[in-house]
Amino acid sequence: MMSQIEKNLSAVKQEILAACSRVGRDPATVDLIAVSKTFPVALIHDAVDAGHRHFGESKLQEAEPKINTLPNSIHWHFIGGVQRNKVRKLLQNFEIIHAIDSLKLAAYVDQIATELGLFPKIFLQVNIGRETTKGGFLEEILRTEMENILSLKRLEILGLMCIPPAGPDPESARKWFASLREMRGALEEEFCVKLPALSMGMSGDFQIAIEEGSTHVRVGSAIFGKRAYRVDGELG
Ligand SMILES: *Cc1c(COP(=O)(O)O)cnc(C)c1O
Repeated sequence: MMSQIEKNLSAVKQEILAACSRVGRDPATVDLIAVSKTFPVALIHDAVDAGHRHFGESKLQEAEPKINTLPNSIHWHFIGGVQRNKVRKLLQNFEIIHAIDSLKLAAYVDQIATELGLFPKIFLQVNIGRETTKGGFLEEILRTEMENILSLKRLEILGLMCIPPAGPDPESARKWFASLREMRGALEEEFCVKLPALSMGMSGDFQIAIEEGSTHVRVGSAIFGKRAYRVDGELG
């Protein structure tokens, strides 16, 4: 029998296919990250049984025991705010870190990666709505610091990530997603660098994010159900 998680995953994947076809994109260019924060290992197992392999967590303390219990074939994405004192363990447990939000943090991650002999994949988080309550680079700061960030040879910079300001409906996120894509284009041109990926789109707006170029959608509640509580240190 199909688990509820498998049904939800399948519905989300259908939506991803439909969004891709509306804008003529190859669905293989979109990674679905199942955001499992606050949800128990049993539900993650259901998703693994359904063939899913990309999962996102936002707190190291919560994620570590899950990672240690679940199969090694899982690709773990850290989508939460990064605390300096957690960097070493994050690098040891996660394949991709989505929210590097300062030059100082990037340099520290590069230093620890050197010590560990790793070449971590990262996203640079942009505070696209310039909200005081959110982390991420302001555009002008990122442009000022980009040269220095690019000199950090251990970091594989996949691209940009954002959490847009809350809006009245999914459609209101479109302009923020489009801005992130445009910013990516401008940075690629100015710094002669490739930033292939855009981490944007959550349960409420992933279809629109895909229409605007997202390559990594971070989807939690549409797969696992409503979260009972808000996670400490959760972004946005
Ligand atoms: C929790 C979270 C998500 C998933 O949110 P849903 O609305 O449940 O899909 C995505 N991105 C980040 C950064 C999150 O903290």
